[in-house]
Amino acid sequence: MQALANARVLADDGFVSDRVLLLDGERIVALTPKDDPRIAKAERRDLQGAYLMPGFIDCQVNGGGGVLFNDDPSVEAIRAIGRAHRRYGTTGFMPTLISDDLSVIAKAIASVRSAMEARIPGVLGIHVEGPFINALRKGAHDPAKLRELDATGVALLSSLGAGKMLVTLAPEVTRPETIRQLTDAGVVVSAGHTNGTYDEVAEAFRHGASGVTHLFNAMSPLSHREPGAVGAALSDENCWCGLIVDGRHVHPVALKLALRCKRPDRFMLVTDAMPSVGSSRDSFMLQGKPIFVKDGVCVDENGTLSGSHIDMATAVKNTVQMLDVPLEQAARMASAYPAEFLGLGKELGRIAPGYRANLVACDDRLQVKETWIDGHSSR
Ligand SMILES: [Zn+2]
Repeated sequence: MQALANARVLADDGFVSDRVLLLDGERIVALTPKDDPRIAKAERRDLQGAYLMPGFIDCQVNGGGGVLFNDDPSVEAIRAIGRAHRRYGTTGFMPTLISDDLSVIAKAIASVRSAMEARIPGVLGIHVEGPFINALRKGAHDPAKLRELDATGVALLSSLGAGKMLVTLAPEVTRPETIRQLTDAGVVVSAGHTNGTYDEVAEAFRHGASGVTHLFNAMSPLSHREPGAVGAALSDENCWCGLIVDGRHVHPVALKLALRCKRPDRFMLVTDAMPSVGSSRDSFMLQGKPIFVKDGVCVDENGTLSGSHIDMATAVKNTVQMLDVPLEQAARMASAYPAEFLGLGKELGRIAPGYRANLVACDDRLQVKETWIDGHSSR
């Protein structure tokens, strides 16, 4: 048994500093008063007043540590990306493949399945972002890769068999019945890279889509006569919204307005990170196109945003500083809420008995000091 003491622990009722966290193997046993006799028998660690929060969960990670998942959809790439992001508090992640050929998607799915079987730390499944999207909102995706989601695609997306499958698609180029088929097969469907009308996107929600990918970016905007994908996402009380909080992808005022629209547990932070995160590289190739890190964002030669250069600890800090969100809520936007979105809310995202011991310890400046995945410390 391990006892993590002298920390400000994010419990369900907020930060508490009068309790000790007991772990047994890969699970949390209890958050217990300091005089619990089990503490004396445990291996005791003094966390020196650090914040101790549920480990961060990132549903959108294209790369990290110099590795791009599209370039190298292999088990080793997943391991390297996970290792790079763990330094910034991410203990659960969805390797994300942007629009590519079905053969590449098949290879990525097989690698994620193998990575899950090999228990590579942190990997929770896969996010297939496109190619079933709208060319009008392609962002940095290669238009030559885009295609319709047919029966072959549905079968492929339903084939993971381990972990979670998240698919970003554009509702207006996908039949609603196809979305229902996917969600019936356990696939989590998110609307994104969409030029859909309010009605088209709302219909996707009625057919099982449960989120939107990077709210505001690469989607039809909110306007007064046509509320678009943004209006559909913000008016649907159940839909989860992924947010990139780097101060560049979306103006902080737009994000603050979004947060006022509905319950806080429907917003989740994503990094949309590129290989430059956790690496000293300031350029890389994306499907044959050079991408540069410039002023803290990734852009192509035309200046089009091409993924982000933030890590999750920075996203949490930005959410506190730019959006005036209390730390406990910002931390949940990076843990409990994405866990719920993925259907993992009963085992990940909370510091509570029976939950997997996935944790992050940070100092007052939200610099990550240590992480735990299934009870194993990064130290
Ligand atoms: Zn995207």
